[in-house]
Amino acid sequence: MILLGSTGSIGVNTLFIAECEKISIEALSCGKNIKLLNEQIAKFKPKFVCIQDPKDKILVNHDKVFCSQDGLKDMISQCKSDLVVNAIVGFAGLNSSLMAQKLGKSLALANKESLVVAGKFFDASKIRAIDSEHAALKCLIDKRKDIKKLYITASGGAFYKYKIKDLKHVSPKEALKHPNWSMGAKITIDSASMCNKLFEIIEAYHLYGMKNIDALIERKSLVHALCEFEDGGISAYFSHANMRLSIAQAILKFHNKNFIEPLNLSKIQNLKFEKISLKKYPIFTLKDEILKYPDIGVIINSANEYMVYKFLEEKVGFLDIAKGIFRALDHFGVPKIESIDDVFEYDMQVKLYLDRGI
Ligand code: NAD
Ligand code: MG
Repeated sequence: MILLGSTGSIGVNTLFIAECEKISIEALSCGKNIKLLNEQIAKFKPKFVCIQDPKDKILVNHDKVFCSQDGLKDMISQCKSDLVVNAIVGFAGLNSSLMAQKLGKSLALANKESLVVAGKFFDASKIRAIDSEHAALKCLIDKRKDIKKLYITASGGAFYKYKIKDLKHVSPKEALKHPNWSMGAKITIDSASMCNKLFEIIEAYHLYGMKNIDALIERKSLVHALCEFEDGGISAYFSHANMRLSIAQAILKFHNKNFIEPLNLSKIQNLKFEKISLKKYPIFTLKDEILKYPDIGVIINSANEYMVYKFLEEKVGFLDIAKGIFRALDHFGVPKIESIDDVFEYDMQVKLYLDRGI
């Protein structure tokens, strides 16, 4: 397989499964963590590697090193493997997803931003989502035609127990304390703001074609999705919060190994499903609008990405993330996206616009 974003949280777990299943690794890519990449090169002996910054090339222990976005595209096109696992974070993952689809490869997609910004340009039938909620939905939907409504769950993130007035002064360190999942920094902040759940709603729409979808808070992250049927029945998908399950489901054709411990149901207590507070999580008020106008995904994603990194650098406060998204939406409205080039153009324009205002 080709594994992009190999040094991140999803990347490392993907390599764990690849090792267990003896899947050979044709190519690896990462951003800046060259130390871990070198360890992965020594262990998995990929034919090609790609890094973000050409300046780091000298540090990489490999003689076939590609660099930057063009390098990612070249590397994917030189590979023979049919499977691309895209675990790059953010808009930077889009080019690779597009290239994988252009070449007719199977795409195991953790980079949800690809679907958020450009879902309509992808053939969802060739994508397997690496996201616990979407892997769960796939199992629940199966081949049923009588589905009325889909639900995904949210943990509530780092600030579930905080009062709204206290969110003004929270630090990145506090926001990075996710109660149940160990993930990269950006998605952990997106979980604290509920932007991640907004993204997952539109991700589910692009993958499964349903607009009747909502999210509920389930604090323990043991139920990942629910499916309501026409006859009034509801089925739910339970598992421990461990991404190895959804990664295995996405990359293995036949998978019957226990990569995670099964749940002991009799030990589960006080399972609750709660409505998401729109006062506390204002970004989630955009749910109906994004389902109505999926093209606004690019505006929301770009603004969010820009503001999240500013928050991590302590240049803006946590509540400014939502403010930046709403400001960008007010300014750009519903964008006219006719080609994939428009997606790249809007991404750049939104980031430039916010940069002028800070
Ligand atoms: P992470 O920050 O741990 O890892 C990101 C990877 O992308 C790293 O290998 C990093 O080096 C690489 N990268 C970063 N910027 C890059 C750039 N500009 N160019 C090339 N490579 C770059 O993130 P993660 O938690 O593993 O998440 C990866 C993706 O999977 C995200 O889109 C996230 O939303 C999604 N996802 C993650 C989880 C999870 O449990 N971690 C669950 C569901 C979905
Ligand atoms: Mg998820």
